[in-house]
Amino acid sequence: MSLDKETAPPAQGIACPGCGCDVAWSLRACPSCHRLIHGERLKTLADQAQGAQDRGELTLALTTWRDALDLLPSESRQHAVITQIIARLGREIDQNPAATARDQAKPDAQSGWSASKATGAAGAIAFAIWKFKFLALVVLTKGKFLILGLTKASTFLSMFAWLGVYWHIFGGWFALGLVLSIYIHEMGHVAALVRYGMKAEAPLFVPGLGAFIRLRQTITDPRQDAWIGLAGPIWGLGAALACLGLFAGTGMAIFAAVAKLGAVVNLMNLIPVWQLDGSRAFRGLTRSHRWLATAAVATSWAVTEQNMLVLVMAFGAWRSAFDKSTAQPDRGILATYAVLVAALSAILCLPVPLP
Ligand SMILES: [Zn+2]
Ligand SMILES: [Zn+2]
Repeated sequence: MSLDKETAPPAQGIACPGCGCDVAWSLRACPSCHRLIHGERLKTLADQAQGAQDRGELTLALTTWRDALDLLPSESRQHAVITQIIARLGREIDQNPAATARDQAKPDAQSGWSASKATGAAGAIAFAIWKFKFLALVVLTKGKFLILGLTKASTFLSMFAWLGVYWHIFGGWFALGLVLSIYIHEMGHVAALVRYGMKAEAPLFVPGLGAFIRLRQTITDPRQDAWIGLAGPIWGLGAALACLGLFAGTGMAIFAAVAKLGAVVNLMNLIPVWQLDGSRAFRGLTRSHRWLATAAVATSWAVTEQNMLVLVMAFGAWRSAFDKSTAQPDRGILATYAVLVAALSAILCLPVPLP
């Protein structure tokens, strides 16, 4: 978790409102008198969050509660209470998408791009242009590095061994298609983050793997974490299906190739390990649901014989057996994970015609 420039703390300490001693800004409670250091700011934030909640602006309320959470010691009672409010508001947003859309259309000056620049039609367009600028910049300035990275990745990972072949056949258009489908995957995450009032930084493209978005805040609710993680592969699957549609319509093999590599990237991201999307999805699953998800992967493997699924299965079993899991069952997360794995591995089975 890192702070952006607007909210960067002053370098020097501040006086504790309780005992008056000099305390570091980054501390949440005074080490000598244990009083909350940011009490005044917390009170303001709580009032603002409550107000937003009362007006039905749930995303704004979530953003504000998260700001408050950042100022509280993680072991405090207030932290636990706000964590619960955040989880509840997340569920309310998912149950009432219309209210959220209304909410997000209202600009707000004090939060980050998640609720200000990305809100409203004009804001959304400006945001999209900014994203494309960022993407164009990556392609233009880092183009060589990107090509080099992909070639290197192909030597390191056997999964990418065929990428070099496609590169020679399809050239730059194929690379562009791939970058665009990764971009669509990332936009899925961004959409979910905006929905839950989260702040995040611009995505960082990692050749061969996809892109990462560094979050400025911790996701406290496993359910929201899971849906933020799944949103990437959901949009990624959408991009792959759109490419297949274009292939069916035009007969151009490049679209099938982009769909297939897109499916590989999205399936890799569903491995429940490290900070991959699959790992986030598993955070929202109970132990028994994790075993069911792993069984679903095994079924997909038996049907499609895509060996990449063995990796997904292995980590799935490991997470099911040993990792701490949530107690709140959510069948939607389980079903979505299973459908994504099945659909993406089915795309991998398509014989891609070469010219
Ligand atoms: Zn004190
Ligand atoms: Zn992702």
